[in-house]
Formats: sequence, C-alpha cells, structure tokens
Amino acid sequence: MKKSEFSSEYLFGLITEILDKKGCPICNLSKGATHDYIDSLFYENVNDPVERANFEKGHGYCPRHLQMVEDHLNLHPELGILGVTVLYHDLFNYLEDVFDEELKIGDGCTLCKVEEDAEKRYIDLFANYISDSRRLEEYEKSISIVCRDHSWVLKSRKNFDPSAFLKIQREKIDQLKKDFEEFIRKNDYRYSNEKITQREGQAWIRLSEFLKSNRT
Ligand SMILES: [Zn+2]
Ligand SMILES: [Zn+2]
Repeated sequence: MKKSEFSSEYLFGLITEILDKKGCPICNLSKGATHDYIDSLFYENVNDPVERANFEKGHGYCPRHLQMVEDHLNLHPELGILGVTVLYHDLFNYLEDVFDEELKIGDGCTLCKVEEDAEKRYIDLFANYISDSRRLEEYEKSISIVCRDHSWVLKSRKNFDPSAFLKIQREKIDQLKKDFEEFIRKNDYRYSNEKITQREGQAWIRLSEFLKSNRT
C-alpha cells in the first residue's frame, strides 16, 4: 500500500503518537521516514541500479546524511555492512581527484530529497491535524514543540489561520522557561528534597531541539 492510500485517520494517528515524544513532530516524522528509507535501502534495495546511479550522480550523501547512515547502521547491526560498502565503493572513481580540486560531496544527496519530500507531506498533515480544535488541544497538552523553522513554515502557509497555533507556541515556550527555572531552583540544596520531573530534566534538550530543527 502506498502512503497516499493510507486513510487520514491512520495518518493523524501517526501525529497523535509522536506528540508524546519531545521535539518537533514534523522533524521527528520526517527523520523517521528517512530512517525507514535507509533501513529498506540496506535491507533489500542496495542492488537497485537506479539507487546506485543516483547515489553516484549526487556525489554520495551530504555530511548530515552520512552521519545518519552511520547512526542507523550502528543501531541496527543486523543490517550488516556489505550493502553500505558496495554502495560507497561506487564513489572511488570520483574521489580520484579529491586532493587536486575541491570536489562537491553530497550536493545531490538522495537522502536530502527523501527527507524533503517527507517533510512536505508532514507539514501538510500537521496543518490539517491542528485545523481541528480537539486535535489542536491534543497538541497543546503534549510535550512536543513544533521547532522554530516549522513554526515559520506553518505561519506563512496559505489558507491557514495560524493565530490559535501561535498562541499555543508562545505558551509552550513560557512553560519551557518555567521548566528551566524549576530545574535550576530544585538543584539548590535548600530544595533538594523536591523531585525533578522528567519534563524539567529534559528542558535544555527540548530548547535545543526547538532551535536547531532538522530541516535539510
Ligand atoms: Zn521541525
Ligand atoms: Zn543529505
């Protein structure tokens, strides 16, 4: 079944599920789709001549996706390393000049394209998701925060009134600031009997994820 054939209920379910996870739901889903792609690439498709030709034509992967492949294969040793070795081997002819001129590496990265396509789909899906007030409330209550970049994308979207969403974004940042302050306060020995919540403990990484974004 193709993605486009999935029912909207199923797709909205993906968003509901990811709202429990810290970070930006759009970034997390796009990254997840890219990891799925990497997984199936090294599980079955690596002998696909089109895939290999595109890899070579794009001069390999960009630095961010080289790192993502490393992380994925480290996490999934069951995939083995024959696939990646065969694929990366195709770059050696190109790399002959690597010390003679400044070669482009990953300027046509196929994983960037995969991630950008997924990102577009999930921006549409998320905008649809929060256009319903009950679902918008789900987002409001959740730990997740749409990152700065994706907030801007949603804000400037056509046929979308961002006012309710932006109000929630501001409240989420206010709450995050409170989580910072509580974490710092509870680290004072006078309050050390007060338990630090997971939310407070993760405050710094949640701000980091809001600022950095995973956009390609
Ligand atoms: Zn994002
Ligand atoms: Zn890339």
